[in-house]
Amino acid sequence: MGASAYEVAMLQLDKVAKRMNLSDEVVAELREPERSLTVRIPVRMDNGKVRTFTGFRVQHSTVLGPTKGGTRLHPEEKYEDVLALAFWMTIKNALAGLPAGGAKGGVIVDPMELSEGELERLMRGYVRAIMPIMGTRKDIPGPDIGTPQKVMAWMVDEYEQCRGEHDPAVIAGKPPVLGGSLGRERATAYGVAVVLQQALELKGQSLKEQRIVIQGFGNLGGHLAQILVDKGATIIGISDVTGGYFNADGLDIAGARVYAATHKTLGGWTGGKQINNAELLALECDVLIPAAIQSQIRGDNVDTIKAKLVVEGANGPVTPEAEEALFQRGVPVIPDIVANVGGAVVSYFEMVQDLYSFFWTVEDVESRLEAHMKQVFTDVHRVAEQEGTFLREAAWMLALNKVISAMRLRGRV
Ligand code: NAD
Repeated sequence: MGASAYEVAMLQLDKVAKRMNLSDEVVAELREPERSLTVRIPVRMDNGKVRTFTGFRVQHSTVLGPTKGGTRLHPEEKYEDVLALAFWMTIKNALAGLPAGGAKGGVIVDPMELSEGELERLMRGYVRAIMPIMGTRKDIPGPDIGTPQKVMAWMVDEYEQCRGEHDPAVIAGKPPVLGGSLGRERATAYGVAVVLQQALELKGQSLKEQRIVIQGFGNLGGHLAQILVDKGATIIGISDVTGGYFNADGLDIAGARVYAATHKTLGGWTGGKQINNAELLALECDVLIPAAIQSQIRGDNVDTIKAKLVVEGANGPVTPEAEEALFQRGVPVIPDIVANVGGAVVSYFEMVQDLYSFFWTVEDVESRLEAHMKQVFTDVHRVAEQEGTFLREAAWMLALNKVISAMRLRGRV
């Protein structure tokens, strides 16, 4: 078992705090959330009995603006992990230059075990339970694991019905017909592609000559593979939880997406040589993009990695030990807080559009997202060069500088 999200977040904070010479007082403030709520949600199940679920909403920091962050449904959800995720949202939102603080929420539940009606009653109950601390100017929940658009639609509807007013900006990740933003579904993938392109340009390279391997073929990995192919890259390896596929001349990504959409996974696809996930990560390639789950490149397998550049699409796929080893070998890792911030940026664009009741085309959304991502990467790269450090540490330093200066100006430290 690897370290918990909370342990990793606190280790990261301590490491950067030391480098930035932060006072104990400031670090103590950052460790704790400003506000957190634990709620009990009774739900009438289809069998007529009442089952009570536990949920959380943690608002880590409001010094830069109202808090924003996802809602995760998971059977092993823990308060400490929600806190760590809320803290990371503070860092991500600050780094991306958004006028927002970080929050995260969740319910301890396996949504696959519930009927559609039970899930709807649970999520409407969750919204009623956290309503006192929600609001367009307070805290804006968005989607995360287990909360697709239809769940966000129930959540915004419950809030609006209870308040008796239209207020779509209070929830991010809604279907476009209810005030969601165009381009939201592939925003994270689009942002990863922009950052990769930017990193290659700095080395005088382009996507066209890159042989790329992607682990994970879900919302992020599937969209990303397609965007990269459309921009001229060659995807030589893909995988999901059922295993991987390889073709040195490039895989048929459009075909793989149709297959995965029809069969739910890539299992049984015949479009490439079958390999397992360990072999996929070890493929000879220019760019490796882990876009599935955490802790995939670790101390025990980092020596097998042959990629020249690693981009963290998923959250936390490279452990700190593996990152250090890659750094020593001159293999840069573009960290999650830089690479996958596109979803958070477009959630913010969604709020702006809702507040103005004026909606942008997908081209508007993606060109603004592109400008945003380029700025983030350029800033982080500059600080990393100046300080001679990892991109991740540079990103944390930039984000913490903003958060701490807002804390000081408000007289909170
Ligand atoms: P998803 O559930 O749509 O897809 C996950 C993919 O990973 C699936 O193809 C699944 O089969 C695969 N997978 C799961 N376990 C695996 C394993 N052990 N080995 C190989 N593949 C495995 O999720 P997603 O939205 O694509 O998110 C992927 C990652 O990106 C997560 O870490 C998520 O936190 C992160 N992320 C996603 C977004 C977003 O907007 N979708 C935003 C920020 C971060």
